[in-house]
Amino acid sequence: MLCSLYSHILNSKPPPPPLLPPLLLKPSHAALISSSPFAMGLNDSSPGAMRNGRGLSDQWAESVVVRPRTTERHITVHKRLVLGFALSILTLIIVTAVAVVLSVRFEECGSGRDRDGSAGESGSRGSARLNGSRGERTGERGDEEAVQPWRNSRLPGTVRPRHYDLRLAVYMDNFTFSGEVSIELECVNATRFIVLHTDRLEVRKGFMRVHRHFPFPANQMYVVVLHRELKPMRLYRLNVSFDAAIEDELLGFFRSSYTLQRERRYLAVTQFSPIHARKAFPCFDEPVYKATFSLSLHHDPQYTSLSNMPVESSSLSDEDGWTTNRFARTPRMSTYYLAWAVCNFTYRETQSDAGVTIRLYARPDAISSGAGDYALHITKRLLGFYQDYFKVQYSLPKLDLLAVPKHPYAAMENWGLSVFVEQKILLDAEVSSSSYQMELTMVVVHEICHQWFGDLVTPVWWEDVWLKEGFAHFFEYVGTDFLFPKWNMEKQRFLTDVLHEVMLLDGLSSSHPISQEVEQATDIDRVFDWIAYKKVSRITLRKVWTDMFAVVFQDYLLSHMYSNAARNDLWSKLSEAMRSEGRDIDIGEMMDRWTLQMGYPVVTISKNQSEQLPTHYITINQEHFLYGQSEVRKNNSLQWQVPLTVAVGNASSICSESLIWINNKTETHRVSEMDGNTWLLGNINQTGYFRVNYDLQNWKLLIQQLHSNPQVNLSVSVAGLIDDAFNLARAGYLPQGVPLQLIGYLPEETSFLPWHAASRALYQLDKLLDRTDEYRLFSDYVLKQVASRYHQMGWPTNGPGAEGNVLQASYQTEELQRELIMLACSFGNKQCHRQAVAYISDWISSNKNRIPPNIRDIVYCTGVSLMDEDVWEFIWMKFHSSNAVSEKKILLEALTCSDNTFLLNRLLNLSLTSDLVPEQDVIDVIIHVGRNPQGRNLAWKYFREKWDVLNSRYGEALFMNSKLISGVTEFLNTERELNELKEFIQSSGVGAGPALPRALEVVEGNVRWHRLHRRQFYQWLRKPLSQTIG
Ligand SMILES: [Zn+2]
Repeated sequence: MLCSLYSHILNSKPPPPPLLPPLLLKPSHAALISSSPFAMGLNDSSPGAMRNGRGLSDQWAESVVVRPRTTERHITVHKRLVLGFALSILTLIIVTAVAVVLSVRFEECGSGRDRDGSAGESGSRGSARLNGSRGERTGERGDEEAVQPWRNSRLPGTVRPRHYDLRLAVYMDNFTFSGEVSIELECVNATRFIVLHTDRLEVRKGFMRVHRHFPFPANQMYVVVLHRELKPMRLYRLNVSFDAAIEDELLGFFRSSYTLQRERRYLAVTQFSPIHARKAFPCFDEPVYKATFSLSLHHDPQYTSLSNMPVESSSLSDEDGWTTNRFARTPRMSTYYLAWAVCNFTYRETQSDAGVTIRLYARPDAISSGAGDYALHITKRLLGFYQDYFKVQYSLPKLDLLAVPKHPYAAMENWGLSVFVEQKILLDAEVSSSSYQMELTMVVVHEICHQWFGDLVTPVWWEDVWLKEGFAHFFEYVGTDFLFPKWNMEKQRFLTDVLHEVMLLDGLSSSHPISQEVEQATDIDRVFDWIAYKKVSRITLRKVWTDMFAVVFQDYLLSHMYSNAARNDLWSKLSEAMRSEGRDIDIGEMMDRWTLQMGYPVVTISKNQSEQLPTHYITINQEHFLYGQSEVRKNNSLQWQVPLTVAVGNASSICSESLIWINNKTETHRVSEMDGNTWLLGNINQTGYFRVNYDLQNWKLLIQQLHSNPQVNLSVSVAGLIDDAFNLARAGYLPQGVPLQLIGYLPEETSFLPWHAASRALYQLDKLLDRTDEYRLFSDYVLKQVASRYHQMGWPTNGPGAEGNVLQASYQTEELQRELIMLACSFGNKQCHRQAVAYISDWISSNKNRIPPNIRDIVYCTGVSLMDEDVWEFIWMKFHSSNAVSEKKILLEALTCSDNTFLLNRLLNLSLTSDLVPEQDVIDVIIHVGRNPQGRNLAWKYFREKWDVLNSRYGEALFMNSKLISGVTEFLNTERELNELKEFIQSSGVGAGPALPRALEVVEGNVRWHRLHRRQFYQWLRKPLSQTIG
């Protein structure tokens, strides 16, 4: 089994980064209660302005008021308190949490401010208050009890904010801040309650001239009860002052640190998406409550401060010598896009062609080494690209990119101040591999797209988060293609890295629809998963309207800019566009099948078997594709409207291609004339989101076609064919020998994409098989396919310093070369092993790293797995001394490749309990140890033992937790392991969202595959290859 010792890291060639990925949340802490006063006042300011201003749009009213409501659960605070306690004494000392003390006052509306000239009215109000207050009080109680709008998980919608004036003083020495916010409110419906969001606020019973005020923590709300009703169409002003801590966890306004010249430096930055603005200031923290913001930050002058908008004025206080930066007023935007940062970073700057100032802020050493220049350069080009594409100018005068050492996500698209974790934006050209560069590029492309899809037009509510995430994800490919046309991202990598990836998840019965009901706070995190990100970008954007969707987007953005939109707004734009082209398709109805139903169909195409119909008819059948056979029957009622392209071909040519819309379970369609040697190929270029199966005779003809003439220009379709074949076999729709025979043509294949699709499928199988007795049969078969092409392509010759190599025309060739080296080394090609060992030995003896950057991860991992403990120590040392973030990452991953369980154990323990391994990398270490066949049991055991600690650290970022859960369970495939998983779920399954049921389904599928198909699989491998399929 030496051959697969280190396939774990190789097969983990990272799919493009999950967009909400691997960083983490600090353990948590008890609330610290501050004692600063918090004053709240309320003024009726300007009804006249309101009458002429924008009224409440229907869409807004609907989304706020008419929704089913459930009680929002306050998810994690309790859990954090309990589990965080266990983590370490340190975290107890660093008690952060917000403490805001509120006292509430109802300011009589100043008659002077009342532009409507209602001084008289205001006077009478004064007496009414005094007279009425006693009398009203008894009546009010009943009133409140009857209504209690704060018990709904959503804000009541009776008032809405128009403008926030937010002033903060930031104390970096003790990590606290104090603030005052003045919110201009518009009353929509008469009410005596002002309900807004605050989280972890502590209320002091202060002087009160309002009736009463109180927090409602279950919904993270704060309630002000007034003596009298606010009147519709009038404006009021609510003033609140507060104190809070700068958090030590990555939410709200939080801090992190880095080392510069051996000195620890701190910075503080915000992360408000999805529901954490309420941790930094009282606000109406739902996306639909868009408002303008004026922010000023007061802080020690040794720091710089940044926000969404540029600094409008800056002054030094005579009193304390501190700086006050006043930022320009923002456009209308959602609370979760507000951002600010206080740091002593430096920057590099450029200007877009349209005059937008773009700056990249980072640690001074990273800036001086030029690590930010690449991202700055592509951002400049991207602003121009998106402006041209969307025909909508970038809205703000500047765009800052902030590279921070710690962040809960890869990046966050705050308008004008996008925040990135360093590993997704800093690039050291000398040592970064092409895949690192590609990932980074795609993250930048994604975030810049959000400046339009997200910041400018925001989904009404979180169930339609895919309206921004799906599109931003799709544009990762379009935008990257614009930057580097030769990478051919959209046509190529999109398939294997996105489509094949998401179909794997979406084929489980524990999947979910793209649009999900979201009511509880826990649900909001759940919707940010790969289904929302990836599936939508395929099904909505491809195929029938590719030629028109640029126009549709322009129209959609123009219609909803500075506002919100829901999915029907997009469908109606698409329907309009279709109608104008004479195609009357109800997009809404068609898309609802795709967005509101989970999963996708498998379409089976067979040549007509009936004697009544001539041979140029085909029968097409659709059913819900599921890996679990029993579920297939259960959910058989699901149907889709499927746009199916079909090509008919024979040995020499593809004869024709046609588009067929499938609406029913079974349909018969006419295609061109066929004979016994004609094959059918469905879903050309895999543009549709479904799988295609055929009768066995057709599979055989397709395979013959590839073996005899692989150059028939099908490489994109072949990648899809390979992925379909392996997955259909895995789910039991197809005999196990079909995909194996299909890839028998690979020695003749010169394109990257079919190889990439095959290697992904083979690594999946490897995980299932690498502990079986007959594993050698499998690995030998793979090596046999790989050998000739591997030897022909050889190893890259460029050493480090061959600048810009990955940007050149040879990108696809280099990627193929890398793919082949990875396959060869991980499945045990001896020559590949010797080459890797030679590189490592040379590095150790010369202390010069001459390994080409593009394959360093493969070489490091191979070296660690084959060589002795000294090499592990050497890599460990290099991990500590390296400054390049990309290099650090692959060195750390290489350490998980050892076959020495003592070392693996040591690494696991060091990761979790010391600060030697950056916190955001801990999850990756555990997952990578799990991918090592020698480390599987270890990682699985470690995960269960440390679950409480891990869950307390990462629990709130459910996306990370589910990455960890799937990472350590996906390889389990025996009855014993299945039982262990079931026991684990029973004893601790609470709070992990959908990840554990999904893990269970995957493992059950693995066990079932072994029970039903393994024998057939090996049987086929034992036969000579000339044997027929089946
Ligand atoms: Zn995004």
